[in-house]
Amino acid sequence: MRILVTGGTGYIGSHTCVQLLERGDEVVIVDNLSNSKEIVVSSIEKITGKRPVFYRADILDREALDTIFTTHGIEAVIHFAGLKAVGESVSKPLEYYHNNITGTLTLLDVMREHNCFKLVFSSSATVYGTPASVPIREDFPTGGTTNPYGTTKLYLERILSDLFVSDDRWSIALLRYFNPIGAHESCLIGDNPNGIPNNLMPYVTRVAKGTLPQLSIYGNDYPTHDGTGVRDFIHVEDLAAGHIAVLNHMTDAGVRVYNLGTGVGYSVLDLVAAFERATGIKIPYRIADRRPGDIAECWSDPSKAERELGWKAQRTLEEMCRSAWNFEKAN
Ligand code: NAD
Ligand code: UDP
Repeated sequence: MRILVTGGTGYIGSHTCVQLLERGDEVVIVDNLSNSKEIVVSSIEKITGKRPVFYRADILDREALDTIFTTHGIEAVIHFAGLKAVGESVSKPLEYYHNNITGTLTLLDVMREHNCFKLVFSSSATVYGTPASVPIREDFPTGGTTNPYGTTKLYLERILSDLFVSDDRWSIALLRYFNPIGAHESCLIGDNPNGIPNNLMPYVTRVAKGTLPQLSIYGNDYPTHDGTGVRDFIHVEDLAAGHIAVLNHMTDAGVRVYNLGTGVGYSVLDLVAAFERATGIKIPYRIADRRPGDIAECWSDPSKAERELGWKAQRTLEEMCRSAWNFEKAN
């Protein structure tokens, strides 16, 4: 298939491009490089032996998208492009709504003009707000998002559902990711945020490397087994495989929703312990105040994806930690 991957030089997008190329798809990437680097295109080529077509362009740029669709006869889109820093979204709501929502509206309009109706959308577990219980199933209520980033995902899910109601040629998958961590086994691609990381795993790997002095654990008074937050960490390669599984399944029109997680919750302290076991490196930490907007527990029931797509996350927490560390060391 000829697939346009928006945000394809980013963290999850690059791992997905590798798997698409490995199974023989033609991959065209559009990315404005606001949070990634062009060298990722060469890294993808080194891993797969195939170079994806790359356009440095913004999804807000209708003309650029139009040219890409005309030139490549795109048959499906996997839409990763978006801004994703929760804290930044609170201070820059207009930028977040504009980039994520107007950008997606522009993409959808161009897709429609070119009779391309197959879309896989990167959503997030954040759309569940504070869930009434865990594990979270796809039929749990959405809403109650606590920041503009999460609200862009919530609104876009709604917009995409409305779109299908208006035109039943659309085949749309809403993938609600839990917490992707880890890196490709080649160490050529991985999570490489600029500046001080917001997310737990890249922070831990930088402490391990000595670039940052210690980890701050945000709260140890949550109602969890050890008081620290519990999340559903999933290896990014397993997450990427979920996109392939869903693409294989999108033969009919409709809107499908899947949780992509492991179904197991680990606490922040569990993750630190697993990292230490996997790498032999001690992670110094201190307990800090809770981070505003955080919830105690968030982990998935991924059984729908297994039942319907035949997809299941395979890799262990220690494998996730080891690959994240190998990537950090190599970069
Ligand atoms: P990322 O920042 O590494 O990748 C996103 C890519 O999109 C970047 O390369 C960036 O340069 C590009 N981009 C942003 N705005 C653009 C625009 N207007 N035009 C063109 N390119 C643009 O992020 P990621 O972790 O790979 O996340 C991919 C998607 O998955 C995002 O939509 C994110 O919200 C979603 N998601 C991520 C996580 C996570 O923990 N990483 C969890 C849930 C959902
Ligand atoms: N966390 C932490 N210290 C950090 C970063 C994160 O203790 O430096 C905790 C955070 O409070 C949450 C968990 O790690 O309980 C996962 O946070 P992350 O930002 O990675 O993902 P989120 O679940 O917020 O999307």
